[in-house]
Amino acid sequence: MNESTKTNLMGMTREELAGFFVAHGEKPFRAVQVLKWIHQRGITDFAAMTDLTKGLRAWLSEQAEVRAPEIVMTQAARDGTHKWLLRLDDGNGIETVFIPEEGRGTLCVSSQVGCALDCSFCSTARQGFNRNLTAAEIIGQLHAARGHLQPEEGQSRVVSNVVLMGMGEPLLNFEPVVAAMSLMLEDNAYGLSKRRVTLSTAGVVPALDRLRETGLQVALALSLHAPNDALRDQLVPLNRKYPIADVLAACRRYVGNGGHHSRVTVEYVLLDGINDSQAQARELAALLRDVPCKVNLIPFNPFPESRYRRSSVAAIDRFRDILVQAGYTTITRRPRGDDIDAACGQLVGRVEDRSRRELRFARQDSPSGAASP
Ligand code: SAH
Repeated sequence: MNESTKTNLMGMTREELAGFFVAHGEKPFRAVQVLKWIHQRGITDFAAMTDLTKGLRAWLSEQAEVRAPEIVMTQAARDGTHKWLLRLDDGNGIETVFIPEEGRGTLCVSSQVGCALDCSFCSTARQGFNRNLTAAEIIGQLHAARGHLQPEEGQSRVVSNVVLMGMGEPLLNFEPVVAAMSLMLEDNAYGLSKRRVTLSTAGVVPALDRLRETGLQVALALSLHAPNDALRDQLVPLNRKYPIADVLAACRRYVGNGGHHSRVTVEYVLLDGINDSQAQARELAALLRDVPCKVNLIPFNPFPESRYRRSSVAAIDRFRDILVQAGYTTITRRPRGDDIDAACGQLVGRVEDRSRRELRFARQDSPSGAASP
């Protein structure tokens, strides 16, 4: 437990930081200076922030701190994917994954400790739910990852994309997620383009509308996984509260707003014999007819005790072909980092489950990957 009573500046947006400085009789532009030190240069020690007056530096050292979760374990997969276990102040752990690709690097960020949604094909669900992450803990994952990855020559932005597809449901942790995303987009912080920040949701309808109203205009991914309510009710229990028609209507409102002609990325995990038939592909194509979207097919990533199998390559290809013929841009996602359990749906962290009152731990003894303490 950290007993610190200092104000943590890590998760503060530009507006919040400006308010913090003004409340202490300083000029609002201090916020921009401090944002650049923290998020662009990775500096957390106020003494090193040399464009602040000495008096301000001393005062900040007494009153404030810049703290991100600490990396306690790193694993590197054969394909270059990295997975970090980050320890939070309360002893919980979360996982963050970095996926390098040709010309870009994607960081997969967690938004909650565990997850309450209980999707039947996701290993995070097995952990149960502990708590929401703070804005500092969410943006701190990007801060920690950037500090850990050495930029290769001529490549200043190792992390070019962020996806909120780690542990948790980001729209059930609204304000901290929005604050963290605004820092990702903020010119004086990470300066990522809004097309390169993606929020993935199982479909929390009221929060989708609130997200639209923030005007952030980040890219949206919807975890659909089924072409009808009867099946989706079983795979994604949240569907019983917000059925497909309501979720798709909210997605249409989201992409239709503000003149940004983006499309929703529809995510569909392919489960052998469950949701991968040709009839289901046709049903999906019909369902999405009025939704500006592209489709990401995700071959199921197994985990211990999972009751599903990955669809065969032939089934995946047939499913894709039907969608393509119906006019949808369809991509089959290649599993990345699956030799270190870093692929979609395999994140487990170290969560003390409050919803089920039992303790579960990450499989730290996993033989694969280059584990280091
Ligand atoms: N709660 C959010 C974000 C986390 S899930 C959401 O539901 O979108 C990130 C993505 O991984 C989702 O599309 C999810 O459905 C997918 N996923 C979960 N478990 C998986 C598994 N075992 N194999 C492949 N993809 C999985």
